[in-house]
Amino acid sequence: MKPIGPIPPAFATPGPLTIAGRTAQDLVATHGTPLFVYDRAAITERVARLRAALPPAVEIHYAIKANPFPPLLAHIAPLVGGLDVASAGELDMALAVKPAVHISFAGPGKRDTELEAAIRARATINLESDGEATRALAIADRLGVVPRLAVRVNPAFELKGSGMKMGGRPSPFGVDADRVPALVRRLIDAGADWRGFHIFAGSQALDTAAIIETQRATVALASELADAAGPQPPLVNLGGGFGIPYFAGDTPVDVEAIGAALGDALMPGRAYAIELGRWLVGEAGVYLTRVVDRKDSGGETFLVVDGGLNHQLAATGNFGTVVRRNYPVALARAVGAEPDETVSIVGPLCTPLDRLADRIAFPHADAGDVIAVFLAGAYGASASPARFLGHPDSAEILA
Ligand code: PLP
Repeated sequence: MKPIGPIPPAFATPGPLTIAGRTAQDLVATHGTPLFVYDRAAITERVARLRAALPPAVEIHYAIKANPFPPLLAHIAPLVGGLDVASAGELDMALAVKPAVHISFAGPGKRDTELEAAIRARATINLESDGEATRALAIADRLGVVPRLAVRVNPAFELKGSGMKMGGRPSPFGVDADRVPALVRRLIDAGADWRGFHIFAGSQALDTAAIIETQRATVALASELADAAGPQPPLVNLGGGFGIPYFAGDTPVDVEAIGAALGDALMPGRAYAIELGRWLVGEAGVYLTRVVDRKDSGGETFLVVDGGLNHQLAATGNFGTVVRRNYPVALARAVGAEPDETVSIVGPLCTPLDRLADRIAFPHADAGDVIAVFLAGAYGASASPARFLGHPDSAEILA
């Protein structure tokens, strides 16, 4: 038997699972399965908690990549100080919900068409290389527009303990720190509107002390680079990387401690941002899927459900995890019910990779029962191979 991760407190009340005041049973009766439900109020509370924890000089940006579901985006956009996009497609989504919002565009390999779209939209482009800078300047020149350009820095350090490290090594992301001052001077000499630095060192970190240490190092690096370049940066984007507890033994990050430490570390009079996806929306989402078949094989019981890695790849351990572990799951009609057997919950895809829960203790469930997979609000529907094997797409709702 293997452990499951902790059910988020908002959904852990024993009894029928309730999301945004509606039972899971009611939700699937209306919308069917498989279904992603995102709790609007939970997102509002999350942003408010972070806003209260952070110093006023730090803006919150939402990284759309975590969940671009249009109603969710329309809900969160007015709550945050900016939207971070990673493609022209995401840029369009951001412009559709809130044209006047501060938009920043990060990501390697921006095509000329994407640079042009961002320059026309007056978005800040976080430049990932000298070559990208050259192309952006040429496009802006052709358009007769002063481009908003920031430099993404590849720092010499990483965010320790993060699930995905994006610093401290040769990288497709950002310009190596030692080359940054010269690039900043070049942008300014070319007449660009230099918007500052973007320094993103990693994602899915649960170690509060490591996040604090990385933020201190990031503030110091931005200051050193600015001194070397000459002018002060209008904005320093400190990255983010706050994780959420997916697995047994994981504990949440202490955002109040992070905010307090950041208050001590910031340079007075400067403007900062942090850029988060997962922490803002991950816990607000639940994936609901129905048991199609219950079968025994070789002494093990399998609950075969109607959705799996095609919708919720991360829960099957196939989205950037090294060792497969179980996300929190529950029988939707009886959260907290005493387990009475060991089961594996598998999706309908014809591959052994499609396993939502591996040999867990679970209350008895039959065909027709609904299973809830928690922590489905980030990197779920949009980060899964929905077309693989031709199964139906999942529905999504903001409740
Ligand atoms: N910003 C950038 C540049 C990223 O690469 C990522 C994730 O990889 C994010 C923001 C969002 O990270 P998270 O969802 O962990 O907060």
